[in-house]
Amino acid sequence: MPNSGTGIVKRILVTGGSGLVGQGVRRVLEDPANTRPDEVWIFLSSKDADLRDAKAVEAIFEKHKPTHVLHLAAFVGGLFRNMQRNLDFLRFNLAMNDNVLNSAFQHNVTKVVSCLSTCIFPDKTEYPIDESMVHNGPPHQSNYGYSYAKRLIDIQNRAYNEQHGRFFTSVIPTNVFGPHDNFNIEDGHVLPGLIHKSYLAKEAGTPLTVWGTGKPLRQFIYSLDLGKLLLWAVRDYPEVEPIILSVDESQEVSIAHVAEMICKAMNLRNGIETDPTKSDGQFKKTANNAKLRKYLPSFEFTPMEQAVKETVDWFVANFAVARK
Ligand code: NAP
Ligand code: GDP
Repeated sequence: MPNSGTGIVKRILVTGGSGLVGQGVRRVLEDPANTRPDEVWIFLSSKDADLRDAKAVEAIFEKHKPTHVLHLAAFVGGLFRNMQRNLDFLRFNLAMNDNVLNSAFQHNVTKVVSCLSTCIFPDKTEYPIDESMVHNGPPHQSNYGYSYAKRLIDIQNRAYNEQHGRFFTSVIPTNVFGPHDNFNIEDGHVLPGLIHKSYLAKEAGTPLTVWGTGKPLRQFIYSLDLGKLLLWAVRDYPEVEPIILSVDESQEVSIAHVAEMICKAMNLRNGIETDPTKSDGQFKKTANNAKLRKYLPSFEFTPMEQAVKETVDWFVANFAVARK
């Protein structure tokens, strides 16, 4: 077992280690420049334990005895899955989060970093959004189940700190994409959905259909960039209060622009059409990353076109095995 010579080894348990974000963390740790000799990283999937089951969570903590937890596991989906399954998003995520935080408490885990999302902020708000606004009003009606479950992580973190002095914190990533995403067209997020649709459109010789008007705005973060930021959060982020992990506001793009980037990367030349009968969801959720910039002023994000190209190439190369 590696250690720093002090005999103290950090055992970092990553829930959701098989998902988009977990795979991003794994990729970053494949570079020896990003590893540390006193850390052991343990990546879980739902096959190791169903985190909605308190006994299964307790058993996994007993087995691995983590000192740190990066809690990524969640019931996740794009706009259209959220609209259909708000109750499941609420109940599954409430259960997973409560079980993981309670076991972390029972096992004296030193630090937990959990994942919120910029889509949980109030629907009616001022822009740009910052970390102080999480609880300032109801979320968008399309994803209230997911949003309230995620917001409660922040409340639990505060309460574990006040009542027991524990250091449980959270990060707030904006829309994530990259290799190993969920490319299911009905259930997944916009970027993997459009990549899958563009692959099929190329085969069929048809245009790419963008759902909604294509006008909504989003900030996207590449999963490998997020992986680097999560290593920093686990190792060095010192606050219980959440921190937004996002590209700069100037990098916000329309869904139509994303579709153009994907067509270019896929070399699809059949045109783009919109289907305004489908929902646009939230028009925008522009997030301010000033807090992140305060801590990491020189962090460099991968240019979006490059990240989209790498993701499209991964999907094409892994079409047979990709989640879809
Ligand atoms: P994902 O690709 O769907 O991966 C979800 C992960 O959670 C998988 O490892 C999955 O395991 C695991 N999981 C799901 N249900 C579980 C259960 N009942 N028991 C145990 N494990 C379970 O999602 P992701 O995009 O990586 O999301 C990771 C985190 O980032 C989540 O907390 C999400 O809310 C947050 N986030 C995501 C985005 C985004 O755009 N994707 C944006 C902001 C925040 P299996 O592989 O075995 O199913
Ligand atoms: P959100 O960012 O949380 O709203 O979730 P999504 O990642 O699902 O993005 C939804 C936005 O993308 C909405 O404006 C949709 O109208 C638009 N969109 C366009 N085409 C698609 C598609 O094929 N799949 C999804 N999920 N959204 C799409």
